[in-house]
Amino acid sequence: MKKVRTRYAPSPTGFLHIGNARSALFTYLYAKHYNGDFVIRIEDTDVLRNVEGGEESQLKYLTWLGLEWQESPDKGGPFGPYRQLERLELYQKYANILLEKGLAYKEYREDSDKFAIRFRVPENKTYEFDDIVRGTLRFESKEVEDWILMKDNGIPTYNFAVVIDDHLMEITDVLRGEEHITNTPKQMMVYEAFGWDIPRFGHMTIIVNEERKKLSKRDKNVIQFIQEYEEAGYLPEAMFNFISLLGWSPGGEEEILSKDEIIKLFDPSKLSKSPAMFDKVKLGYINSRYIKMLDDNILKDKAKVFFDKANIQIKDDNWLLNLVKLFKDRMSYVGEIVELYNNFFHHEFSLNEEELNVLKEFNSEEMLLTFEKLLSDLNDFTHDAINDAIKETGKITNTKGKPLFMSLRIATTGDMHGPSLPMTLELLGKDEVLNRIKLTIKLQRGGL
Ligand code: GLU
Repeated sequence: MKKVRTRYAPSPTGFLHIGNARSALFTYLYAKHYNGDFVIRIEDTDVLRNVEGGEESQLKYLTWLGLEWQESPDKGGPFGPYRQLERLELYQKYANILLEKGLAYKEYREDSDKFAIRFRVPENKTYEFDDIVRGTLRFESKEVEDWILMKDNGIPTYNFAVVIDDHLMEITDVLRGEEHITNTPKQMMVYEAFGWDIPRFGHMTIIVNEERKKLSKRDKNVIQFIQEYEEAGYLPEAMFNFISLLGWSPGGEEEILSKDEIIKLFDPSKLSKSPAMFDKVKLGYINSRYIKMLDDNILKDKAKVFFDKANIQIKDDNWLLNLVKLFKDRMSYVGEIVELYNNFFHHEFSLNEEELNVLKEFNSEEMLLTFEKLLSDLNDFTHDAINDAIKETGKITNTKGKPLFMSLRIATTGDMHGPSLPMTLELLGKDEVLNRIKLTIKLQRGGL
């Protein structure tokens, strides 16, 4: 069997979008699963739409996602060059062969010696291929007009260049978006004209948003560009995992899978025939699972970047490490740590009616006075010591469970719910905690 070779062929017309990333990722998985080569080719013939930095950004974020490739414009390889604008002579050469064979013809521009080259579409032929995703697809040549291979400026059209390149680069399998289905018969005509083998094609379904509408780049509800996910603190491994599930299913129950596991399990026959739903909640969940798996110190360094960006000064490294441990289970993206921090540590301490009523209901004044005394005697204000003080407060006041924990939590954090109380209090610091308890006692007595 021929060695599998796949390619991702972006047009550098913008930054790496979730849809492109999916095409790249599936193409990559396909190659890796069959121990093949993965090639990157830049399709830059739509000169007016190319954007500065588009190619670099695409490659940068494919690397960020964890894709590696054997051949590309920046790496080179035996079938280069890998940018179409650097291959114009090749397209010209093959267009000339078709002209000589009478399979294409020149079409002169009015009052000019410039000409485009059109492909002569065979009459009454049926083009049929076995799509990897959709099964047999059939097209009649009478539905296709003679189409342009080379424009009069010497630049090939996509449908011509893609065939020359896929053939010369020995691509065996092509996975791409469904918008290319109707291009496929045109491409097959060129393969046949040259007598070349036709690769296997697979056209992936569209990605839809939660309203089941095609994900559009203008859709403000969904983050669209991979760069923005990095900026918000999504982890590349989680993005890889999430994107691999957009239109493919591993079959089993477990959906949290490493890159290597996905490569192993990848099965093109499990590519979905119905649109892939972009489920934001699922993405948040998957990312949170990967955050939980991260080493605390690594997560701390990642979190630091977000505090720096928000211009928030953090006491010291150890404090940040504790903060990260406290919130590790509650983060769906690393940048969320700033929000969580602001909610818990940075807001003005105050109590609302409901909280004051709870304190009253639990008769909490004695608990608060006892807790205050025990805490003020502490030399080391650590979560372990604080934990002991909570238990001791319970013993002395003969309380436990909800009345005890709820009273102490409200009096120190101003909230009824939150992460581990001893650690929260350690992070708040002794002075702040004691001030809050004093204030709570005053508020309760109606003293303010
Ligand atoms: N340059 C094309 C695109 O970005 C590639 C299509 C293909 O894979 O054939 O859609």
